[in-house]
Amino acid sequence: MRTQVAIIGAGPSGLLLGQLLLKEGISNVVLERQSGEHVLSRIRAGIIETGTVELLDAAGVSGRLHRESLIHDGIEIAFGGTRHRVNFRELIGRAVVVYGQTEITRDLMAGREAAGGTTVYQAQDVRLHGIDGPHPRVTYRSDGIERSIECDFIAGCDGFRGVSRACVPQSALTCYERIYPFGWLGIMVDKPPVSDELIYVSHERGFALCSMRSRERSRFYLQCNLEERVENWSDERFYEELASRLDPDTAAHLQSGHSIEKSIAPLRSFVAEPMRYGRTFLVGDAAHIVPPTGAKGLNLAASDVYYLWQGLVTHYRQGSENGLEDYSRRALARVWKAERFSWSMTSLLHRFPESSGFDRRIQQADLEYLLTSRAALASLAENYVGLPL
Ligand SMILES: Cc1cc2nc3c(=O)[nH]c(=O)nc-3n(C[C@H](O)[C@H](O)[C@H](O)COP(=O)(O)OP(=O)(O)OC[C@H]3O[C@@H](n4cnc5c(N)ncnc54)[C@H](O)[C@@H]3O)c2cc1C
Repeated sequence: MRTQVAIIGAGPSGLLLGQLLLKEGISNVVLERQSGEHVLSRIRAGIIETGTVELLDAAGVSGRLHRESLIHDGIEIAFGGTRHRVNFRELIGRAVVVYGQTEITRDLMAGREAAGGTTVYQAQDVRLHGIDGPHPRVTYRSDGIERSIECDFIAGCDGFRGVSRACVPQSALTCYERIYPFGWLGIMVDKPPVSDELIYVSHERGFALCSMRSRERSRFYLQCNLEERVENWSDERFYEELASRLDPDTAAHLQSGHSIEKSIAPLRSFVAEPMRYGRTFLVGDAAHIVPPTGAKGLNLAASDVYYLWQGLVTHYRQGSENGLEDYSRRALARVWKAERFSWSMTSLLHRFPESSGFDRRIQQADLEYLLTSRAALASLAENYVGLPL
């Protein structure tokens, strides 16, 4: 098989890139290790920047998003038993959109099918060849048969544990990493959210987040030890712990119900530089990870896609390499700002087991300053809704 761009991974970054390229008449094949059902069963992000929505508009897959998503003009930060509103609209005139990553993926899959794009699910043993030469190739096994795709470029959209970054020689990459000493225990429940907007909770017992996917579906998180096991957390125990971290009024509005998903996610910051090696480009989680506190993972994947899409279009339309040569620099400039924001939100709101009395007082002063300074609130708002592409 021959295509212009071989895309590894059918997560949001791979499918979005594929769709945008198809719209420009640039051929591509997406290879995904899992089945389509498995990809759709993963419950992940839900807060979408308007820049990401504009990209989904450009890809022609945002019809349902515009009908079903919720617009949030702000968030709340609960601290010292009080909820404080951060009004994005008033502070910076912008908002965020609530729409699940699963739904975005579903829309992208439908768009790709309608456009006649080729996606190979359950592609086993995907391997990249000749990635530093002029004729890269991807091999894989499907239905027990070895297959090969010749291409001009490879987009490694295969997430943190994918094969693309692993194929780049270690000496060509510099990796930066911070692993946090806690995780998030999350549940999804078909009950209305406790409030109209997300509530980020800083509490002595640990961080909590009351989030949502729609007016009928809530997503709750609790900071937990890395040793915790999902099996040890009955729904009752989860709600009891969550209520203990909320102020009494919010706790009274909590509607508990049978969880439809329950999982523990470790928190990590990670960046691999550069995001290009020869004719292979790393995109989204394949190149970087953020702790979910800043709601940036999916949105960063989308901004990488934007820069790579522009570079590829310039290459094929104008024969210029400038966009591709600049891809890593442009993407990383935005990635590091989101890394900084996600790290700062995580540091501000969580309880760190090793923190001293001094650290705790500084954290408290940080929160008090944030909630009383319009400049600090505007800075949070500007980063949360998404920095310009
Ligand atoms: C548990 C969890 C919770 C999260 N919650 C949030 C959140 O609340 N907010 C937020 O903004 N972000 C969140 N994120 C991050 C967000 O979901 C990711 O940033 C986003 O999915 C990145 O998209 P991606 O397409 O780059 O990678 P992925 O979504 O990881 O997609 C990569 C795809 O590549 C496939 N793949 C992997 N290896 C191979 C291979 N060898 N061959 C072929 N295919 C392969 C995978 O199966 C997968 O489908 C969360 C992530 C996790 C893991």
